[in-house]
Amino acid sequence: MKKLLLFLAHPDDESFGTGGTVARYAAEGVDVHIAIATDGAAGSIADDYELGHEKLAAVRLKELKAAVSILNATLHPPHYRDSGYINDPANDHPRAFINADTDEQIERLVTLIRQIRPQVMLTHDETGGYYHPDHIHCWKIGTAAFHAAADPEQYPDAGEPHQCDRLYYTAVPKNRVQWIARMMRLRGKDPTKIGKNKDIDLTRIGVPSNRLHTRIDYRSYWEIKRAASRCHASQGGGGGFAKWMPLWMQKWLYRYDFFIRAYPLTNDGFHEKTFWS
Ligand SMILES: [Zn+2]
Repeated sequence: MKKLLLFLAHPDDESFGTGGTVARYAAEGVDVHIAIATDGAAGSIADDYELGHEKLAAVRLKELKAAVSILNATLHPPHYRDSGYINDPANDHPRAFINADTDEQIERLVTLIRQIRPQVMLTHDETGGYYHPDHIHCWKIGTAAFHAAADPEQYPDAGEPHQCDRLYYTAVPKNRVQWIARMMRLRGKDPTKIGKNKDIDLTRIGVPSNRLHTRIDYRSYWEIKRAASRCHASQGGGGGFAKWMPLWMQKWLYRYDFFIRAYPLTNDGFHEKTFWS
């Protein structure tokens, strides 16, 4: 049986980011597992705010469960605290994903890989898409665990070793981001200061097309991705940087997911239309 394991940072990354690919493979009969690293409840770090943190984490878990069930995948829920974006005070919390013990994090993921035994594993790329510290940390932990899972010398108590055939990284294509930035400028908006805290610079984001290896067409699964994204109401329900566009334009812009193949290494340039080529 074909099995796919995604290791992603936040509740919503599975839908906003890779929802189309997940929906497609699940519909094609692949056993899709989604492991989310953090509770997605950054921001409330002082003790007084602990209750607020717990409440938001509970809301986000509920949203995540609903989204993953629409995508028809199996959820492996978060164990760590959301770290927040660059310079967020939540980054200093000792239980934040980026501060917790990395050896324990790798072992936890190795255990999961050896239990599920997927052929294909997927995580964030080294830029985390938009430099989110939790995304970048997923790339570190995910890559280390992918290799460690195959090595009988490493984490011998974490199950029978398993070598996945492929490792992929999610990637935001540079030309798509440039197109959105151009459209924003035409509308009089500044693409270098976006997001809730105006701290995301769209012009720094994106992977050039010669580094993209895989392009997954999810046009037939657009509505499933949209329905899953809408479950994350606390995060705006999806649409991201293109939310203001008419629906037909969003459908045109977001019809493929792109990936970097990290294992086995391959020549640069896009040439795959599936993870099981
Ligand atoms: Zn995220």
